[in-house]
Amino acid sequence: MRIVVLAGGIGGARFLRGLKAAAPDADITVIGNTGDDIHLFGLKVCPDLDTVMYTLGGGIHEEQGWGRSDETFAVKAELAAYGVGPEWFGLGDRDFATHIVRTQMIGAGYPLSAVTEALCERWQPGVRLIPMSDDRVETHVLVDVDGERKAVHFQEYWVRLHASVEAHAVVPVGADQAKPAPGVLEAIAEADVIVFPPSNPVVSVGTILAVPGIREAIAEAGVPVVGLSPIVGDAPVRGMADKVLQAVGVETTAAAVAAHYGSGLLDGWLVDTVDAAAVGGIESAGIRCRAVPLMMTDLEATTAMAREALALAEEVRA
Ligand code: GDP
Ligand code: CA
Repeated sequence: MRIVVLAGGIGGARFLRGLKAAAPDADITVIGNTGDDIHLFGLKVCPDLDTVMYTLGGGIHEEQGWGRSDETFAVKAELAAYGVGPEWFGLGDRDFATHIVRTQMIGAGYPLSAVTEALCERWQPGVRLIPMSDDRVETHVLVDVDGERKAVHFQEYWVRLHASVEAHAVVPVGADQAKPAPGVLEAIAEADVIVFPPSNPVVSVGTILAVPGIREAIAEAGVPVVGLSPIVGDAPVRGMADKVLQAVGVETTAAAVAAHYGSGLLDGWLVDTVDAAAVGGIESAGIRCRAVPLMMTDLEATTAMAREALALAEEVRA
């Protein structure tokens, strides 16, 4: 079975562990969000691609959910001693090596998709990881700072400001000019199932869908498209997805996120058991829906979620 997953960082990566366990023989292609990418200290950093790569490759800082395990921060301290920032983005020494290799390869002329493949040769994530695009896309958030409206990089909004100021708009700058990376449209066309994991619907899955051609290819693939709600009990499980949902005028509920994707894209949607009351409304909007436990507390629970997603896909296929 060929499965395509559109993934952001932590939520997507953790779900993929369960999916690999639920479908050990499947051929899994992950289309990764690159709207979070940022240039720091002259290096290209791809937080979501790296989170997927480290999580599936065994190098992730488990408790934190991002960055390397057994990390040290000597380079960061040395940069700070020079007064060189930003100090709010935590890059560890081990992590720095990944960004150095990536930047060096890009400088030598390799596209990001080829660089990602090369990095994955070390990590062996057990999936094919492709960035959504080789072209630069950068998510910006429109906020008011000192009485002035301005666009800040998504990481500045998310990491430095902790999404504590109101977001007026979320703009994937460059997306309209971006082309899907080599292999993206092919993987979608050849997929048996397409899955939206519990990733951020606006700044992760939404950004991937903003690359011209990807949304259309998914809608036209003619195979089940199923998603798992990142919203449980009217709140994000972790992070601040409610803030960016508000910016695009979507309520923070499992049902509103399903409606945001829409029945033109989504065939099936899993909500958590605490949101069981929403199932009827989602089904009458034309999306097959089931309420099952959706908390990725451990590998067993996450594997069960992935099994439910694949079962729902078979149900809508029938
Ligand atoms: P990021 O790039 O690290 O922010 O990660 P993602 O784009 O993959 O999205 C994180 C989303 O996953 C957030 O909206 C969380 O609410 C959601 N999430 C995290 N853990 C869980 C979980 O255990 N269950 C569910 N249903 N959603 C989760
Ligand atoms: Ca992210």
